[in-house]
Amino acid sequence: MFGLSITGRTLRFSTLALLATLWTALSADSALAQTASRKPATPLKVFISVDMEGLAGVVTSGDVGGTNGDYQYFRKRAAEEANAAIAGALRAGATEVVVRDSHGAKQNILPTDLDRRARLLRGTSTGPKNMMEGLDSSFAAVVFIGYHASAGTPNAILAHTSNGNVVDFAINGVSLPEGGYNALVAGLYNVPVVFVSGDRAALDQLRGLLGTVDGVAVKQEIGTAILGMSPAEAQDAIRLGVERAVRARAQYRPYRLAPPFNMVLKVKRDGKTFEGAVSAGAGEYRYTNTDLLKVLEAFNALK
Ligand SMILES: [Zn+2]
Repeated sequence: MFGLSITGRTLRFSTLALLATLWTALSADSALAQTASRKPATPLKVFISVDMEGLAGVVTSGDVGGTNGDYQYFRKRAAEEANAAIAGALRAGATEVVVRDSHGAKQNILPTDLDRRARLLRGTSTGPKNMMEGLDSSFAAVVFIGYHASAGTPNAILAHTSNGNVVDFAINGVSLPEGGYNALVAGLYNVPVVFVSGDRAALDQLRGLLGTVDGVAVKQEIGTAILGMSPAEAQDAIRLGVERAVRARAQYRPYRLAPPFNMVLKVKRDGKTFEGAVSAGAGEYRYTNTDLLKVLEAFNALK
């Protein structure tokens, strides 16, 4: 019994010694791993602007505001499409994601509905960047979700430019949808638009302006109806597409026009003023500046 006890104790001591050795080795490994993970990741900031007219399933203005349609339903889908884009960006290595709620009063996405790994820029802003508020040159890529075509575009869902009063907004002869002038804001900070989701007409129109840009048409116009993807299908396409586009961001060029910027704004109802802007006949304003943000300030004041 005594002998066994000695043997048992010896065995126990050996086991303890072995465990201690292993623990030291494992601790050293995990310390190394921690040192490696503490090394700051290369910053990769992605900016996501989320409108609503181009979300999967949206067909009438009641779906994107007020109480007569499915607004409460679609503001949830806005958060889900944003979350799909956030997930795609993070899979592509994004270290920071900012979501700009870009529709109407900019208070559509309910904060708890958004993926906690992103920051939400919520509410209207007085600055000229508007749907691009919060963007600066620290970002590497811009994503548009739920976008729509410009006022007057044929075969488009809920086509308009900023508000119902704008007939056409052009800079240097180029007619610009919201995605066009928002891409110019991104270009000002040397950031490319890498991915666009929206209806077929919106995507085609933006590709016509920006050239190569990744994206998904979640629906297409059929008369005043739509034929399109289910929200789940659209979200899968957005997640995969944003990951692919952010990874390939180096192949997309920032969108720019050469200054000076000559704005021609056509509206249904005129009568507003902006210093330096001239009225060029009924329903038309002209304004020129070398500062793009000043031109957008004029647009916001006169539209
Ligand atoms: Zn909108």
